[in-house]
Amino acid sequence: MSDFPFFGHIIDGVEVESVDGKRFDTINPWTREKWAEVAEASAADADRAIASARKAFDEGPWPRMGRTERAKLIHKLADLMEERADELARLDSTDMGKPFVQAKHDIARSVWNFRFFADHQRDHVGEVMPMDSGHHTYTEYGPAGVVAAISPWNFPLMMATWKIAPAIAWGNTCIIKPAEDTPASVVLLGRLAIEAGFPPGVLNVLNGFGVPAGSSLTGDPRVDRVTFTGESGTGRIIMGAASQNLTPVSLELGGKGANIVFEDADIDNAVYWAVEAIFRNAGQVCLAGSRLFIQAGIYEEFLARFKDAAEKLVIGEPFAADTQFSCLASEEHYTKVKSYVDTVEEQGGKILTGGLAEDGSWLVRPTIITDLPLTATQYCQEIFGPVVVVNKFETEGEVVHLANDTSYGLNAMLFTENLSRAHRVSANLKAGTVWVNCFFIRDLRTPFGGVGDSGVGREGGNFSREFFTEPKAVVMQIDRGVPA
Ligand code: NAD
Repeated sequence: MSDFPFFGHIIDGVEVESVDGKRFDTINPWTREKWAEVAEASAADADRAIASARKAFDEGPWPRMGRTERAKLIHKLADLMEERADELARLDSTDMGKPFVQAKHDIARSVWNFRFFADHQRDHVGEVMPMDSGHHTYTEYGPAGVVAAISPWNFPLMMATWKIAPAIAWGNTCIIKPAEDTPASVVLLGRLAIEAGFPPGVLNVLNGFGVPAGSSLTGDPRVDRVTFTGESGTGRIIMGAASQNLTPVSLELGGKGANIVFEDADIDNAVYWAVEAIFRNAGQVCLAGSRLFIQAGIYEEFLARFKDAAEKLVIGEPFAADTQFSCLASEEHYTKVKSYVDTVEEQGGKILTGGLAEDGSWLVRPTIITDLPLTATQYCQEIFGPVVVVNKFETEGEVVHLANDTSYGLNAMLFTENLSRAHRVSANLKAGTVWVNCFFIRDLRTPFGGVGDSGVGREGGNFSREFFTEPKAVVMQIDRGVPA
């Protein structure tokens, strides 16, 4: 027996070890020490989880339950999450090194994911189309079946719940495979679902690595939907696996967001958001504003203020009350980000501020790079760390071209006080989301997703409904056309 906390799989309403008893360690990236053990799934565990979700869907009460009753249970889960918010946040901070204050914010968003989709399915209104032929057609949104959800480590609970909430709200059963670096909060969520009274098999949590845990889900014909958030390369593999069974996929992938600051911008506001956009969560954000474009007339002034604000961020251990910025999530990820920072000068760029902490920690300081050629890897590839590449531009046409000249298209930001320009540039940017004079503000009714290497499909509001249901047209004869 080990003295470390243990996080098992949640399968069929029970927390269990793996069939073969295998476990892996999860590491606290701030201390760089093991802090807990986690059940490590093999294909046999995935098989158990799929069988449970399948049975719960085919025979259990969940898909057959009234919408109000289902919403009530989901709100009960949300209540329990609120009661245990500190604990959930503590797990995320311990697992990935995220400042506790930011983790608390993520938990609130996770709770909202459940409340929003519970109400969205309960209150949704279908369409009826009266036809000239004396029929009418209505659309029925029935649940799709078993959903496999695979999530990344950067917002451990928030990303997982963004998938679980719409899936179960629409009457599906679900297997969530959290990222191997950050499984703890999702396991606690599974425990809370048991406590809330969810029927067995509605929410299963399968822990382990991409292969075999994740891959056993994506290629299984008993799975009806695959929703994935993670790297674009992994997305390609998952789409390939799911295509063997023609299983629909929703892919939310990487990004290389452009942040454009025009000369007429409110500079205080733009500096504030430029810092948030690349240094929040230590830049481990798919939506990060990692390419900053500043118009020539304000370039020097803006850059000086941006550098100053970046240097003022309070760097520290995740649980200190004033910490705004902390370490990266794992040694593997630190090594990846370090390789980009190490090669800035050889690629022709300059580090204006930041760089590696060089104290043996997995900390990369808020880093601003200038003078880099547009062919440099730091400019072209997703670094997924607190590293921003800054460029100067002259005209609107030029910056739209630069912003769009990437294989990604998740999001973009622009700062201007000119309303016409705001509309025009937003329309011309290749991105799933454009933020004007702000960043990271989300309404869950709106489409969320990306273009190109940033993903396939959209989730959010009715877009989630389309993905997590099988919309059915019911055509009904109203007028038999028999003369009076
Ligand atoms: P990743 O692709 O390495 O892993 C994501 C998940 O996929 C993990 O749970 C992993 O175990 C699993 N996985 C890996 N290989 C698999 C396989 N062959 N089959 C099935 N599952 C597999 O991504 P990551 O490093 O955890 O996350 C960072 C990436 O996620 C970045 O690229 C970031 O931009 C992206 N991301 C995108 C969004 C978005 O909404 N677009 C949000 C957050 C993160």
